[in-house]
Amino acid sequence: MILSVHDPATGSVLAELSDATREDVVAAVRRSREAQPAWGALGVDVRARVIARFRDLLLEDRLGMAQTVSRESGKPFAEALGVDVLICLDAAQWCATEGPGILRSESIRLMNPLFLGRVSHVEREPLGVVGIVSPWNYPLAIPGSNALHALLAGNTVVLKPASFTPMSALRFAGLLHKAGVPNDVMQVVVGSGQVTGDALVNADVDRLIFTGSVLVGHAVEAKLRERSVKSCMELGGSDPAIVLADAPFDVAVRGVLWGRFTNAGQTCAATKRVFVHRSLYDRFVAEAVRHASALRLGDPMTPDTDIGALCDPRAVDEMTAFVEDARKRGARVLCGGHARPDLGKQFFEPTILVDVPADARVLTEEVFGPILPIVPFGDEDEAVRLANASAFGLSASVWTSDTKHGHDLARRIVAGTVNVNDVAYTYAASETPWGGFKDSGHGLTHGRWGLLEMTRLRHINVTPPDPIAGRPWYFPYGAQLRDFFDQGTQFLYGSLKQKARTGPGLTSNLLRRRKQK
Ligand code: NAP
Ligand code: MG
Repeated sequence: MILSVHDPATGSVLAELSDATREDVVAAVRRSREAQPAWGALGVDVRARVIARFRDLLLEDRLGMAQTVSRESGKPFAEALGVDVLICLDAAQWCATEGPGILRSESIRLMNPLFLGRVSHVEREPLGVVGIVSPWNYPLAIPGSNALHALLAGNTVVLKPASFTPMSALRFAGLLHKAGVPNDVMQVVVGSGQVTGDALVNADVDRLIFTGSVLVGHAVEAKLRERSVKSCMELGGSDPAIVLADAPFDVAVRGVLWGRFTNAGQTCAATKRVFVHRSLYDRFVAEAVRHASALRLGDPMTPDTDIGALCDPRAVDEMTAFVEDARKRGARVLCGGHARPDLGKQFFEPTILVDVPADARVLTEEVFGPILPIVPFGDEDEAVRLANASAFGLSASVWTSDTKHGHDLARRIVAGTVNVNDVAYTYAASETPWGGFKDSGHGLTHGRWGLLEMTRLRHINVTPPDPIAGRPWYFPYGAQLRDFFDQGTQFLYGSLKQKARTGPGLTSNLLRRRKQK
């Protein structure tokens, strides 16, 4: 079968690729498994140097890569460069410089006198083959950062990119190969979710990182669970923003608008519901409408385009249905609300809704497009209740001039990441963890936590042949052992008085037991 890749802005065909059958996927995973031991044996420092070379190659290729991302996803070129390429570069830089230290083995001295002189070693080893199934909204940033972490940790990778956007993933893998990653260590299998994706989920992988919708994610998860395959699920979101009465007004308006309309609203961590304190509400709405009306839709490759095309051809109809549902329930559309067929088949205006009832689909479901409902609140308890009234828990934002108060309020919001006075951007901060609560998924990517999830922990404990305290707990049992443990537990965990009382007897008992060794 042939997979046609389209330019969402023009509808023209960008490429025709033959897709991977189920057998192709099984064969790719087999090659991946065969290649893994040698890649794992190279050691983390060698792999870090390969990733540093990849970073240099991506930097050189940044404009070409951004063009590929922009063309196949429909997002403005500046976002392709400043978000997708930058995130991938940052992930490579972080993996190359910080990663080896995080993966280094650690030795742990045992403090209990019974175990004196013994040492535990905690070592991180690769899981084996990591499967990655990724979405189209950040076609380089998401699979790129996931794959770099997996590779640095010594795993091999089989990646199934979204069928709308396979070209960025292929270009990414090409750069890795040029940097010195063997072909079988980093493979891309192109094809539909139903066939190629499903085959990867059912293949002999050790971990599967799925990023995508809740609907598909839950079905994938169920299959992985049956086989006890480790999974990481990065699913949808309906992130709230809470704008408090003391919010830095201008930055809050601009931040919320960027959070909602960046990538034409097709961001997992987009600001999908905004709650504004009543004292600011009218002013906030007026400013938001003024800014949203000024956003320029158009050709993603033109530098002053703010909003490009929607990637999924079905999205324009979906957005129209969301607006209609809200309108029917009493909401008012203050700007936007329509498709823009004059620009192309896949453009939709940035839309602001007010008077939106709580049961409107724009508040209860994930809206993956440029629609922003703005809802007033009276006090913070109400704001927190509204923010948490969602099946999702990916990220959230709080806007206030009092950052200490913002931090405290952030703890009350059920979400994997809460930003105070900014939105969504931490995906680009490679040091920080990424992962959602509730329906938004489980498991972590990014930062030391994400990197460590690409490994399993091996614990090796070494005891000298004749340890200091001997092995007093060995057979034979008897009254002597009972007294030894009675004194020992009091000595170790009791008051000073108990320690003084039990110390001398304990020592002689220990010496007696050592003689019996
Ligand atoms: P999607 O429809 O769930 O697809 C995600 C990936 O899964 C695609 O590669 C898709 O292939 C594949 N797939 C579809 N059916 C499959 C199956 N039965 N078995 C295995 N794989 C299958 O999601 P999307 O529309 O691409 O992306 C949008 C969603 O992703 C939104 O909900 C968004 O919030 C979420 N997202 C979450 C994060 C996060 O970090 N939490 C980040 C980005 C996006 P096809 O392309 O061929 O359908
Ligand atoms: Mg989809």
